[in-house]
Amino acid sequence: MSIRSAAIIGAGVAGLTAALSLARHGIRSDIFEQADTLTEVGAGLQLSPNASRVLGELGLLQALSEVWLEPRDVSLVSGRSLRRIASVPCGSFARARWGAPYGVLHRATLQRVLVDAVKANPLCTLHLSTLLANPSLQYLSQAGLAAADVLIGADGVWSRTRTQVPASPAPRFSGNIAWRFILREADAPRFLDRTSVTAFLGPSAHLVCYPLKETGGFNVVAIAAGSSSAREWGAAGSEAQRTMLIRQFAGWNAEIGRVLADAAQATFWPLYELGNGRWHNGRDTILIGDAAHAMMPFAAQGAAMAIEDAYELAGMLATHPLAEAFDLFETRRQPRIARLRQRAAFNRFAYHARGPLRIGRDVVLALRPPQSLAADFDWLYGYRAVG
Ligand SMILES: Cc1cc2nc3c(=O)[nH]c(=O)nc-3n(C[C@H](O)[C@H](O)[C@H](O)COP(=O)(O)OP(=O)(O)OC[C@H]3O[C@@H](n4cnc5c(N)ncnc54)[C@H](O)[C@@H]3O)c2cc1C
Repeated sequence: MSIRSAAIIGAGVAGLTAALSLARHGIRSDIFEQADTLTEVGAGLQLSPNASRVLGELGLLQALSEVWLEPRDVSLVSGRSLRRIASVPCGSFARARWGAPYGVLHRATLQRVLVDAVKANPLCTLHLSTLLANPSLQYLSQAGLAAADVLIGADGVWSRTRTQVPASPAPRFSGNIAWRFILREADAPRFLDRTSVTAFLGPSAHLVCYPLKETGGFNVVAIAAGSSSAREWGAAGSEAQRTMLIRQFAGWNAEIGRVLADAAQATFWPLYELGNGRWHNGRDTILIGDAAHAMMPFAAQGAAMAIEDAYELAGMLATHPLAEAFDLFETRRQPRIARLRQRAAFNRFAYHARGPLRIGRDVVLALRPPQSLAADFDWLYGYRAVG
């Protein structure tokens, strides 16, 4: 028999999508979120067709299409010479090839669209300002917060729900730091493409830049090596960390260097990732999104995987007994996440290549037409999550 209700820890992309996906099957959910409000400053998100297809199934695509921008392509460009190395077409090409759009938007916009849908759905109840120190079904029931059949841990890389799952993965620092900020249109160098996602590449560092329709200006993410034991995302970062970042972009195009040096509002995101491990306890608790498989943003797929996870888990919970649904979820999702990790590791190697490797990379990529590069993404962007 299928479950009737779920308790979800975390109202990020994974948790909110899970609530909406469960509601499609008539399953009620209570979502518990520690934050008082759901906003995030200074960060953009690329949403690829595998994710936008799911958001379409949830009836959210119209609202998103009105506010996001569909980039013409994703281009790799030398951070030193500004020479275009390669590009993968998006825009109408993405809709035709992968059957769904590729969009870029501010993360707060996605969260608002998801929250509005959750609030409008009588099967979903959102509890803000509710930090669960040791989330468990037993605790939720004893505290009178929720009586649910399943606990879904969608509480991010520092998940506390993970303590309920023996042999679950542990976070480790990746050795890389992301700096994120919004660049005002008035401060943007003329060469920044107003219609595309551009990844500027250099030795041991890269910088991704794309326009945001909602705010005007650009979302900028600079990723370089760094040291940190900080768990806190989105902090300002110390002066020493800032100096170290700017040093790693020395020798780059001077305008890019200036943009980084002037980015007083930049926030500092030490990148942690999870390795292999179990995602459920075989009984009543399961992890999705970053709580299960936080990864480096080299393939821009963390939120997309959270969306796929949420949608597929809901379908499995609606059609299988709990323990079977849990096993099915791991069996179906783990190979996909493993393949994506390989792709992200390859991107990391290719993006940050130096010396002869960099020259080899540029030669190989230059030989590949955009259509052929696009074919490399069919398994990823053409994926049809089953919900
Ligand atoms: C620099 C950078 C760029 C990225 N770019 C992209 C991109 O372009 N495309 C893409 O698809 N992905 C991207 N990602 C990845 C993406 O942001 C994440 O994978 C995604 O947001 C994970 O969503 P989540 O809901 O699993 O976790 P989170 O967003 O971390 O949400 C977890 C929620 O749980 C709440 N919570 C945690 N603990 C508790 C508790 N004990 N009690 C109650 N609430 C709790 C938190 O407050 C939070 O709201 C990027 C990541 C980074 C760092």
